[in-house]
Amino acid sequence: MADASASTSPSLRAAGMRQTPQREGILQVLRDSDRPLTVEEIWERMPERRSGLPTVYRNLERFVREGWAESILGADQIMRFVRCESRHHHHHLQCEHCGRTVEVDACGLDESLRHLEALSGFKITRHQLQLFGLCATCRSEKDR
Ligand SMILES: [Zn+2]
Ligand SMILES: [Zn+2]
Ligand SMILES: [Zn+2]
Repeated sequence: MADASASTSPSLRAAGMRQTPQREGILQVLRDSDRPLTVEEIWERMPERRSGLPTVYRNLERFVREGWAESILGADQIMRFVRCESRHHHHHLQCEHCGRTVEVDACGLDESLRHLEALSGFKITRHQLQLFGLCATCRSEKDR
């Protein structure tokens, strides 16, 4: 887990991105939410809304490319964004009951990927996984 109080600015600069209140605002909104958010929801929660939705969307696309955020297509086929804490390859799990997401700094698919490579003749260079289920909190509530 990254320190939530750490400034986001160094990573913005390290990626050669100009540090703007807009970009800091988007990252902060994502950081403050334990659920994935749509572009509209992010925009609505931003402290300063000087630019429009298209700008927010472009910044989000950039964040996804830099590995700071990921897009998750929900069961409702709506695209939402979550912030990534890990700088390594990882996965997000989303609870279908409460909507919260959990980031796991692990993959565990190496063997399966080798198997798929052997079957397909592909060299697999990357993958995305959408994982849905019941989070620990919702599970214990169900068991009660
Ligand atoms: Zn992520
Ligand atoms: Zn849950
Ligand atoms: Zn993986």
